[in-house]
Amino acid sequence: MHLPTDEQYLQLLYEQWSEPEYAQSLAKVSTEAALDAQVDRLVRLGVCSEEQREAAKEGLRWFLSPQVTFRGGLIAGLRRVALHMLSRLPEHESKALSVPIGLLPITDLNGCAVRTPRGGTIIVINHGLITFVSKILESYLALSSWDSDTPYCKHHSKRDNASTIVGIANYLIRGDGPWMSSIAKTALCPSQHAYEQLHDAFCYFAEVFVLLHEYGHVCLGHLDPNNTSHSRITQAPGVETYNTSQLQEFEADEFAFKVMLKSIEDSDSRPQMLPSDLALPIGVLLKFFELCELWSLTKVSHSEKLTHPSGKARWEKIRPLAGVDRVPGSLAGQIDYVFATLHPPV
Ligand SMILES: [Zn+2]
Repeated sequence: MHLPTDEQYLQLLYEQWSEPEYAQSLAKVSTEAALDAQVDRLVRLGVCSEEQREAAKEGLRWFLSPQVTFRGGLIAGLRRVALHMLSRLPEHESKALSVPIGLLPITDLNGCAVRTPRGGTIIVINHGLITFVSKILESYLALSSWDSDTPYCKHHSKRDNASTIVGIANYLIRGDGPWMSSIAKTALCPSQHAYEQLHDAFCYFAEVFVLLHEYGHVCLGHLDPNNTSHSRITQAPGVETYNTSQLQEFEADEFAFKVMLKSIEDSDSRPQMLPSDLALPIGVLLKFFELCELWSLTKVSHSEKLTHPSGKARWEKIRPLAGVDRVPGSLAGQIDYVFATLHPPV
């Protein structure tokens, strides 16, 4: 019997898993005319200059065109960074090197590692991660710095920034249009400019975390057919127990975070990033998952099963690894407080 190669299998998943509506909406905003119109807007807002037009257009195409992004520079760049971080752990790097990776037009902010018919592994990362994580972090930074001397956003209200995050959560849960307008309100915020580097670094860490989490599943052997390492879970009163797949999620999170920690510890850049700062984008992502869970409970016909443990539980396992509570006033220390203001009304 002829089995598809892993590369062919990835292509197959692209065709089967793509969300047609999302792929179409990306295709619509990545036509030549649409890209030109967006660049016009960026020039008008002063986000880029006349001379930067072509580069800006190419950059937008990189992010927006589903075909370009599927196996394009964006995902290749994330892969390069993740593999570089993994190169300090040769036993893991060798397992990760051969895994084909694709960026699929799926709204959801996640990725997954899949076993292929030939017994290999492929990883897909969802495009929604690229689209929404940037907006979520932008509005999060606006909210968390609101009362500081250097607020991230001076162009939109606190309410607009809060409803951007809640809007994205509800758009992802419900998939309908009205929520998009609350997201659009803060689009292309001119304030963003001043914080561009910080914001970009955070986005990139959140995206690399998701990819390293998937590498974690591969490297830790979670996809091996005879993986039985978690079949025994002791039940003790008052102890939280998780099923196999949930335990593996925690392990993959821990793997990803420790690889990232190691890479900042070994990095030459000074001042070195603090573990509790590195935890910020990851905490925001995990708390956003929790927010989606909370808002989805308000949905009348809630029927989806949770495959990942709650975002809250995942964040609570990362917090001590990052020493968040040992660093008073750390950036990541405010995450729970800020997100609590976004919960659905009880
Ligand atoms: Zn996972």
